[in-house]
Amino acid sequence: DPYAARENRYDDGVPYRRVGESGLKLPALSLGLWHNFGDDKPLQTQRDILRRAFDLGVTHFDLANNYGPPPGSAERNFGTIFAEDFRPYREQLVISSKAGWVMQPGPYGFGGSRKYLLSSLDRSLERMGLDHVDIFYSHRPDPETPLEETMGALHSAVTSGKALYVGISSYSADLTARAQEIMRELGTPLLIHQPSYSMLNRWVERGEETTTGTSGPSLLETTAAEGMGVIAFSPLAQGLLTGRYLDGVPEDSRAAAGKSLSGRMLSEENLARVRGLAGIAADRGQSLAQMAIAWVLRSPAVTSALIGASSVAQLEDSVGAAANLEFTADELAAIDEFAVD
Ligand code: NDP
Repeated sequence: DPYAARENRYDDGVPYRRVGESGLKLPALSLGLWHNFGDDKPLQTQRDILRRAFDLGVTHFDLANNYGPPPGSAERNFGTIFAEDFRPYREQLVISSKAGWVMQPGPYGFGGSRKYLLSSLDRSLERMGLDHVDIFYSHRPDPETPLEETMGALHSAVTSGKALYVGISSYSADLTARAQEIMRELGTPLLIHQPSYSMLNRWVERGEETTTGTSGPSLLETTAAEGMGVIAFSPLAQGLLTGRYLDGVPEDSRAAAGKSLSGRMLSEENLARVRGLAGIAADRGQSLAQMAIAWVLRSPAVTSALIGASSVAQLEDSVGAAANLEFTADELAAIDEFAVD
């Protein structure tokens, strides 16, 4: 059946937030295609999730060259669905991709070289059937490549018209400030940083130790000072910060599939924290997933929560977070008792 987007999606859907000091806005919740969009998942489910997301005002889909499995298949599957459903809405979508982690064997399929980043961007555009992405990321810092080279490649991605904006992912606060300095000189300031952030993973809040042993600014302080937005990935700790694992490991879950959610994360200690947090969420009249999403959005430095979903029902539950993004000081203090990493 042909797709027509829901008419009222911009009236009653998720709110939009400005990305740092840029002109771009992102939905408070964005959808990532890391898991659940590879060749191991039915295309119809993928299509249903993407349609429902857009119908709820989720205008941002986040991909990377290696998402799958196999690597590249998430972009290819997205390209198929985009061509059939979303082409008329291209101007209403913010589509991102990345390169940096392993994509292919050999010396040119990994890291932060100009060679890898720019050829990977071309292949990503081919797989998705796009002539440009909205945001292109350096997926990870690469200590073996000069920062100037990686940033130069991002700058070229923009000047060649293949990306409208660029960002970085998982860079430390210090490296972020240095990267932004280079990009400002090149005339293409970094739009956004994509770090991991959740109630069980609070590194972005902590001051970073400097070379002289003193405490420097945190990543969230740095991005704010540099005019960059932040999109927090895995705000649900890959599903742990939901009701999903409270009665064991469900057969159809990411943890059972032996994917990236490790047994170490499912420790009794963490599960006790999750139970404590679930109680606070219940008092707020929210699901735990909704509270976990609202919590990463409580800082004005964070633009968007970048979630995953393996079903339409999960997506709908998570988007419901937007109905209550406010916390009292008492609630935040109660959460801090359990939100430790
Ligand atoms: P989440 O923390 O949102 O975890 C998503 C998983 O949680 C789902 O697959 C599902 O697990 C479960 N889940 C989601 N919603 C609910 C709900 N309402 N109730 C119960 N369970 C729920 O994020 P991801 O780890 O999936 O990451 C999100 C995106 O972030 C990625 O797709 C990617 O775009 C980006 N990312 C970027 C990285 C980077 O290096 N830059 C690294 C990792 C992610 P299940 O599948 O078991 O049902």
